[in-house]
Amino acid sequence: MNKNFYSNSRELLKSKELFELAKESAYEYIDTLEDRPVFPSLEDLEKLKHFEEELPLQGTSGSEILTMLHQYGSPNTCAVTGGRYYGFVLGGALPLTQAVRWLADVWNQNAAVGLMSPVASKIESIAEKWLVELFGLPKNTAVGFVTGSSSANLCALAAARNSLLKRIGFHLKEEGIYNSPKIKVVMSDQAHATVFKALYLLGFGDKDITLVKSDKEGRIIVSEMPQLDNQTIVVLQASNLSTGSYEDFDSICTLANKAGAWVHVDGAFGLWAAVSKKLNYLTKEYEKADSWAADCHKTLNTTYDGAMVFVKNEEDLTSTMQASGDYLDFSGGRNGMVYTLDMSRRARFEIWAALKYLGREGTAQLIENLVQNAKIFEKQLKEAGFEILNEVVFNQVLFCCENEETTNDVLKKVQQSGVCWCGGTKWKGKSAIRISVSSWATNEEDVKKSVEIFQKVLENK
Ligand SMILES: *Cc1c(COP(=O)(O)O)cnc(C)c1O
Repeated sequence: MNKNFYSNSRELLKSKELFELAKESAYEYIDTLEDRPVFPSLEDLEKLKHFEEELPLQGTSGSEILTMLHQYGSPNTCAVTGGRYYGFVLGGALPLTQAVRWLADVWNQNAAVGLMSPVASKIESIAEKWLVELFGLPKNTAVGFVTGSSSANLCALAAARNSLLKRIGFHLKEEGIYNSPKIKVVMSDQAHATVFKALYLLGFGDKDITLVKSDKEGRIIVSEMPQLDNQTIVVLQASNLSTGSYEDFDSICTLANKAGAWVHVDGAFGLWAAVSKKLNYLTKEYEKADSWAADCHKTLNTTYDGAMVFVKNEEDLTSTMQASGDYLDFSGGRNGMVYTLDMSRRARFEIWAALKYLGREGTAQLIENLVQNAKIFEKQLKEAGFEILNEVVFNQVLFCCENEETTNDVLKKVQQSGVCWCGGTKWKGKSAIRISVSSWATNEEDVKKSVEIFQKVLENK
């Protein structure tokens, strides 16, 4: 079909039929969320075959497309907005942030330069200010809104390298990387895959990277730190992906600051401990670093594609990221593109909205609830006969059974049950199960139901 698309295009602007259909499907999804399997059943997975077709010669009607997406797509989602998805560290989504996203998508604003959207420019500048305050970062810390911490790590590490070189009088833009003095990287043997990715993209290789030994919780052993100097980037983690542990920021930042090294903190989900008075002992003195990465789509529970790179000295970030062009007019307020890789991108209205919705106290409460539920998991899993492998200080619970085979088998059966979903990992050479409590929607009832399925599977072994 789609002849209408050409003959009626002005009318189409006012067409609400498609939005109504999307809304109906979304409501149905929301209403059946509690009862759907957390991971699609084999039967549902079969339905994905319906998407396998040649690119059609002629168009399809919008309503047909939405109907198809709901019919075969909805059952094949992982129920991450519900209360019993604990895989990776995905984060839930506050319904308000989804609703804000709906409206903002209808606006379709571009946040590259202020003149393109006064509202995007204003709201991101407010969010920027709130975030720096909330995290207790140094005044005037610059914020770039990025897709995720992968991108945040890349932006920060690029700024780190360029700035360290500039401080010793080497201007990378003019001289080029192949004429550059050496910059070294020091980080934990636990550093996240995206940190490696960012470093490789920036031209670092394994020979430039010193991996420091970590302790049983995955924290850098401070006495193992090599000599630092002003040509070194130190990368620290605010929360380990498996154990939730935090580095000793105070000791390591002190060493680095003395040496003139740059410290970057990868705090994708864990930086949020800093916003709670009960939890900010974990990030103590982390503000002595130079840059930080944090996701909103993980711990703050906004929809995806919402994260920040923070850089203490604005000039370090903008001189690395800035692009110029005769047609670019930067006179219209905040210009998002000078802080990040992207030029065209959507504005992060939902980050502002989540902070306004929760307030300082509500934000802290959200984070504290995740930790509280993780601790309930710890206690109940232990009672059910599982061995807990980590100190549960944040939202991650790592555990196993008496042998590898049982651990792997129990995990597989729980994943297939549809009651809850979590993933596995190898921790210090041993198979383990990881639970990440990262959704506002998880409550004690969800924890109980989830532990029950683990217990049942274990007993039937
Ligand atoms: C998730 C994660 C990242 C990557 O963040 P994305 O938002 O997925 O790009 C980086 N570091 C850590 C510690 C993470 O948990």
